[in-house]
Amino acid sequence: MASLTLTEVTKSFGPLEVLHPLSLEIGHNELLVLVGPSGCGKTTLLRMIAGLEDVTSGTITIDGRVVNELQPKDRDIAMVFQNYALYPHMTVYENMAFGLIYRGHAKDEIRRRVEHAAEILNIGDYLARRPRQLSGGQRQRVAMGRAIVRDPKVFLFDEPLSNLDAILRVQMRTEIKKLHKRVATTMIYVTHDQVEAMTLADRIVVMRDGRVEQIGTPDVIYNEPASTFVAGFIGAPTMNLVMARVEDRNGKLVVALGPDTSLVLLEGHAATYRDWIGREVIFGLRPEHLAWARADVDATTVEIAASVVEPLGADTLVFFEISGLEMVARLPPEAARQTGDRVRLRPDLSRVHLFNPATGRRIHSTVRNIGDSRSVKE
Ligand code: ATP
Repeated sequence: MASLTLTEVTKSFGPLEVLHPLSLEIGHNELLVLVGPSGCGKTTLLRMIAGLEDVTSGTITIDGRVVNELQPKDRDIAMVFQNYALYPHMTVYENMAFGLIYRGHAKDEIRRRVEHAAEILNIGDYLARRPRQLSGGQRQRVAMGRAIVRDPKVFLFDEPLSNLDAILRVQMRTEIKKLHKRVATTMIYVTHDQVEAMTLADRIVVMRDGRVEQIGTPDVIYNEPASTFVAGFIGAPTMNLVMARVEDRNGKLVVALGPDTSLVLLEGHAATYRDWIGREVIFGLRPEHLAWARADVDATTVEIAASVVEPLGADTLVFFEISGLEMVARLPPEAARQTGDRVRLRPDLSRVHLFNPATGRRIHSTVRNIGDSRSVKE
């Protein structure tokens, strides 16, 4: 159990600044997920926390103690990598015990810890095997076991599941979630997979080009994305984002998606968007917030023709154009079967997002970060 604080931390490789001043508070036993596209600095940040990379400026504090100058072995942190880095000539037991032997723990204590970790991870039957006699998922478990036996204050995971096939990934994701509950330890988990981020995290940090784009619970990140970048990164398929214009039509505020399609903004939202009358915005609506209206025709429905139909089994993705703008809806399979099918949709107006096209930021949002509640109004 530990808290971890990053204060104005930066990292440069020569003239290249890859992390810009970055501050972050990670609470006791929190599972924080760092997510972002390749090259945004996630691994570098994790390696700095582990002590494998120097900090250019700023401080890293664990339980109130600055650890910038501490060697990795003195930080009480265990890291699990994407390539499991197991010793091929050692058994599973020896792989897990190795770090404890190196640190001079007593034999009985080592046995107790290895057996306890093996039980947590369900690998008790494989302790005498060598890594090559294990599946990828089992090897990843051993790598986690090696971290667990150390009983560290903080666990760091660097894309631990990316070498596994799709089914195993999902299984191991659940295992890691269970593991977090069982060992009740602070964990930082790096991934570029937004589904992993959403399913595992207590809070998600979305990173972009060495900066934090948004921090929040999965609920906030999904439902109140702070920018088009976050909206376009989280969710599969991602949020529909198209250019639109806010207009006042006889006292009603509408968002016009083109000459023929406009949606009336809800009364509750109108006050927020009034400053934007006559201006261009980026309109955002998630595919699941375009409901199938069946045969209902009223002012809140629009008819579209499917340009592509992608059945996923439980539901179907229907791609279409509105006034030349490409969008997608997630619908029940019976809503559309093939290209050209006409479908009536009812956009959920309570789920509309508007973004400033100049900055990409949400026009008005309540960012409900833990310990950091603020309203951003542009
Ligand atoms: P990925 O998901 O691909 O692993 P990432 O978000 O983890 O990406 P980092 O590996 O942290 O990104 O890299 C961040 C940036 O720092 C990249 O532009 C990378 O090229 C650069 N970088 C990383 N390590 C070094 C290094 N030792 N020397 C110079 N540049 C580096």
